[in-house]
Amino acid sequence: MRVDFLLRNAGALLTLAEGPIPRRGPWASGLGPIEGGAVAAVGGRIVAVGPEREILAAVEPAPGAVVVDGHGSLVTPGLVDAHTHAVFAGTREAEFAMRVAGRSYEEIAAAGGGIRASVRSLRGTSEDELRVAAASRLRRAAAHGTTTCEIKSGYGLDLEAELKMLRVIRRLAESQPVGVVPTFLGAHEFPDEWRNDRDGYVGHVIYDMIPAVAEEHLARFCDVFCEEGVFSVEQSRAILDAGRSHGLIPKLHADELHASGGARLAAEVGARSADHLVCVSEDEVDALARSEVAAVLLPGTTLSLGGTRFAPARTLIDAGVPVALATDLNPGSSMTESMQIIMSLGSMMLRMSPEEVLTAATVNAAYAIGEEGSVGALTPGRLCDLVVWEVDDLRAIPYHYGVNLARTVVRRGAVVWPPADGAGRRVA
Ligand SMILES: [Zn+2]
Repeated sequence: MRVDFLLRNAGALLTLAEGPIPRRGPWASGLGPIEGGAVAAVGGRIVAVGPEREILAAVEPAPGAVVVDGHGSLVTPGLVDAHTHAVFAGTREAEFAMRVAGRSYEEIAAAGGGIRASVRSLRGTSEDELRVAAASRLRRAAAHGTTTCEIKSGYGLDLEAELKMLRVIRRLAESQPVGVVPTFLGAHEFPDEWRNDRDGYVGHVIYDMIPAVAEEHLARFCDVFCEEGVFSVEQSRAILDAGRSHGLIPKLHADELHASGGARLAAEVGARSADHLVCVSEDEVDALARSEVAAVLLPGTTLSLGGTRFAPARTLIDAGVPVALATDLNPGSSMTESMQIIMSLGSMMLRMSPEEVLTAATVNAAYAIGEEGSVGALTPGRLCDLVVWEVDDLRAIPYHYGVNLARTVVRRGAVVWPPADGAGRRVA
């Protein structure tokens, strides 16, 4: 068979192809290793994975095929970032410096900071400017091994600005080195103009925004920030039910700052994921374990906010809840595109094994955004998205932190990192 992509000379090829999806409990360590493996693809989809001898006997690279050298190193599926707010206008480093200097959230909000600052900036920024800024973030994510990410709206908080964000996300999905899954998050916060009529804003989300988003097919998921002082459990349920009736699958920001009942609601409405879960209660862990909900943990947010209480990953994994990791990339509480640092935090702060963090950053993350059939593992039929690492042992990824260990990143059978030089040659 002629192929247009071939990866050869891998050391350990971890396919993540063993076991059910999502992985729960002990399955979180089934990595499907192939020593000296090779991967062949046609048209961006994998056609063969296996020991190099067998693959080379079965396939032949076509003239002009992309042939990637595995350098005898570790090769894994491309990383999947299951929770980002990658489209935003303006950064908030001034607020970060105030927080580091000990100023409280209320002082920062009074000085014009917080999520409402991002809303003001976004409403005044054009679609093109938003797209250019987000595209550079996605290129940085790809350079660190991410080949698919989810992106939420939620800095518009009115019909026009939410649709603007989702249209930007759609254009990114069409043009970027990272695959993009769109989520509508009109219920991220109450905008200033509705602060004295919160149920009125919930109605605006339900009756005006959700039908418009569905009509343009701009989102796959509907998410809500369910939290004390933000959207109540009942408001969240009403929004998620409305989204469901328009074909949008529920997701939740749940139990981030308080045990607010968000995880229980996620289980009750059959959400695809419940995210954050720093304050999840024991009862809620049981409810999640009996459901199909993935837990998406965001340790970068806890770290960035200077918190010391991290989500109880061990409790969740040991109870049988499928766990994924994500950056939460956003300008207020987690300014990173790197899934590698999140994997390090997964081991260092959440006490997940290296095998568990890789599972959480690939196959379980793909499940959390409904992409488990196409990414997150290396099997025939899935997209040819993979990372050749600088290291030959999986344990070195969470261990060697704060630097980029991705040597070559491939999406749909094309090298997206390192970038080509002006003459089209790869510079590394
Ligand atoms: Zn978020």
